[in-house]
Amino acid sequence: MEWLSDEERYRAIEENLKIINDNISECAVESGRKPEEVRLMAVTKTVEPKFINHAINNGINLIGENKVQELLLKEPELLKCEAHLIGHLQSNKVKKIVGRVTAIQSVDTVDIAKEIGKRSVEAGINTKILLEINSGNEESKFGFAPEEVYDKACEISEIKGISIDGLMCVAPICENNTKIRNIFSNIHQLFIDIKDKKRDNICMNILSMGMSGDYKEAILEGANLVRVGSSIFGMRIYR
Ligand SMILES: *Cc1c(COP(=O)(O)O)cnc(C)c1O
Repeated sequence: MEWLSDEERYRAIEENLKIINDNISECAVESGRKPEEVRLMAVTKTVEPKFINHAINNGINLIGENKVQELLLKEPELLKCEAHLIGHLQSNKVKKIVGRVTAIQSVDTVDIAKEIGKRSVEAGINTKILLEINSGNEESKFGFAPEEVYDKACEISEIKGISIDGLMCVAPICENNTKIRNIFSNIHQLFIDIKDKKRDNICMNILSMGMSGDYKEAILEGANLVRVGSSIFGMRIYR
């Protein structure tokens, strides 16, 4: 939407949010839930604060950034809003982000969980984390393999300063609707299986899956938090 004027872009954000909220409600109901049981996160990477604030003024109450630096840079200009980190976190950035977000969704190793725990204890707080699942088992992607996640969760649940609040995944790009729904369905089953074990300090409240291209499929398969960027703000232009 780079070619639009700011005014046109504000209107587009409003329109996009209406459409997405309608779709979310429809898919929530279709999957046997209430519309308010599925939360929309606006993914704000590369988006300027004025547009993010416009989304917040139009009902967005959760934003997600994937880079620590970008989040901290924009933060002073943003209206008050819950924020989560959703991108891969390097251990040297942990100290900077702890206390600045409500949750870190992208915990992909036991070591990074330990570092978040350590820095949280130092800061006298508890940090909510989600475990990132590598759904497509692709070499290039971050996250725990589905078959190892419960054991890792048990290990992580012993760490002080953090609490596990659910699972997150970025699905591979699938040309095929059945395939993507299968992947989401498997992760939902994993979420249920872990929840049913009722282990101390492992809560399965949030199932964060689905982005602009696949959030409807994700909701239909059980997601209760979807992370949508370009369908709200327009295509990202990286410079
Ligand atoms: C960028 C990003 C999103 C949103 O992607 P869109 O396709 O623009 O909706 C969601 N989750 C993560 C982890 C991201 O990095």
